[in-house]
Amino acid sequence: MRFAGKVAVITGAANGIGKATALQLATEGARIALCDLKADQLGGVADQARALGAQVMALPVDVSNQADVANAVAKVVGEFGRLDILVHCAGIMSSKQILDCDMAEWNRVIGVNLTGTYNVCQPVVKQMVAQGGGRIVMTSSAAAKSPHSNAGIAYAASKAGMLSFVRQLSYQFGRNGLTVNAVCPGTVATEMPYRHFEAGQLEARLAESVAGRMARPEEIAELMLHLVSDAGSYITGEAVNITGGTFID
Ligand code: NAD
Repeated sequence: MRFAGKVAVITGAANGIGKATALQLATEGARIALCDLKADQLGGVADQARALGAQVMALPVDVSNQADVANAVAKVVGEFGRLDILVHCAGIMSSKQILDCDMAEWNRVIGVNLTGTYNVCQPVVKQMVAQGGGRIVMTSSAAAKSPHSNAGIAYAASKAGMLSFVRQLSYQFGRNGLTVNAVCPGTVATEMPYRHFEAGQLEARLAESVAGRMARPEEIAELMLHLVSDAGSYITGEAVNITGGTFID
């Protein structure tokens, strides 16, 4: 039970990578707070986590809304008494390149992916500093480091911005006992790529990779768990690729 006694907040927990990570944390003993915009889907994930023996809170949250997030974090600390781990997966994709990306699209993507990261990290870091430590991991993307045709301009910029958060927070709060890292997945078999790749594009992208397949969300979850576990305590400020060789730097 790597996470017995730990309290974890997971954003984007209703689906995909966030859901897989939440269930893995539940399996390994953590008390978990599931946060997602899709309130109707949180209940099913909460039921699955309770069936694994976990204590669970399910909190409908829009990460682009600062007050929403601050209230959720306050509720978690009120209920569980502490907050040890943040797994920040809430995010949206856009494939629009600059000539098609109007201001509304830019603001939508930056608002969720980048301002959302600010909104989530601020109250979480404050709590972790007060406690004397904590672990943060977030889902950036290989698109933060290397362009590809399906990653739009706002998406790539937002994911690159998250890496600056990681570096800045890890540097600023390392002496307060925080570690802060990002994972940079290639293509993961969640609903997200199917919403944004046209027929044939996904196969072409995977054909370029060494693995020749998409990642399973559980594989991304396993890496994130390592980064927030005791075994990962010497890793901070990193942006760890997990792309099956689609992107290598
Ligand atoms: P997903 O669409 O399956 O899940 C994302 C979750 O985030 C959804 O449950 C959604 O409701 C939630 N969400 C969206 N906007 C929100 C908001 N404003 N407030 C709260 N919750 C919100 O996607 P996924 O594949 O699990 O992606 C998780 C993260 O990993 C994202 O940040 C994504 O950019 C990143 N990522 C995914 C891939 C991939 O191929 N799937 C690759 C690289 C990076």
